[in-house]
Amino acid sequence: MLIGGVASARRSNSSRCWSGSGQAWGRVAIMSSFVVVSERKIYPPANECIYCGARGVKFTDEHTFPDGLLGQHILPKASCEPCQKIINEQVEQYCMRTLFAHLRAVTGMRSAKKRPPPPLTVKLERQSGEIERVVVDPADLPQFFSLPVFPGPCFLTGEPVGETFDGWWWHHETPGASEALRKLGAQSMVSETVFPSRIARLVAKIAHSQAWALWGPAFEPFLPDVILGKTKYFQEYVGGWGKILNPVPDFAHTFKVMNWRKTKGDKDSYLIGEIRFFSDLGGPVYYAVIGKALKPWPFQERTA
Ligand SMILES: [Zn+2]
Repeated sequence: MLIGGVASARRSNSSRCWSGSGQAWGRVAIMSSFVVVSERKIYPPANECIYCGARGVKFTDEHTFPDGLLGQHILPKASCEPCQKIINEQVEQYCMRTLFAHLRAVTGMRSAKKRPPPPLTVKLERQSGEIERVVVDPADLPQFFSLPVFPGPCFLTGEPVGETFDGWWWHHETPGASEALRKLGAQSMVSETVFPSRIARLVAKIAHSQAWALWGPAFEPFLPDVILGKTKYFQEYVGGWGKILNPVPDFAHTFKVMNWRKTKGDKDSYLIGEIRFFSDLGGPVYYAVIGKALKPWPFQERTA
């Protein structure tokens, strides 16, 4: 399985209209690169914390797209230890072990690290109504998955920003799922607790770190507070397409960065990351407004 759209960067200077679904923000976007993050790539080091701006401290390397989802792009010396800890514990571990654990197990997506994966567990509801957590083999897993579906980021739609999740859910079930459930002697499967804010933070982290890896500080960043959990108003900058799109066969995840303007002649432009996890299964699309462009588009990719 691959991540990404096409191997080469695609660019078009023609305005592209995103019509449909009543999106007020679907005005003018200039298409940018598809990023194929499953091919190994190491960028020049950042030498600063791309989240809090710290310099002269000990840095860790950043995987822009998590390696647990097959990402292979690395931005060296890009995160200070406190930021790295927050992101790892509150965002990446949660998403990999809870939100994506089952999807990763059945699609064979494992981190490149040599550690053996933790056992796969599910919460089952028995006929008696009792809830029990059991260890299952990936082959026997009843395949029911859910991911949050967000409306467009408020920054783009102009809608007021709420504190609570303002969206709905994408549910996926494979044909043998009910049968697998019956074999385990269960009435139903109880989903893990899903915090939409955590996946929003993951989307923000991927988009921000990837843009930084490609272009450095060429934009005024909007996402660090969202990534570090310092704001409840993540829906200002992170959202989705608001509806479910058709699956894209052969591509596990797709990721691209776009340059967007409110109107065609507007001098201000913004970077928007578009990420779709498990696009081959029909997973929802997410958007993150990465920041305001500080120089004319298209940007030059960083060199060492
Ligand atoms: Zn930091």
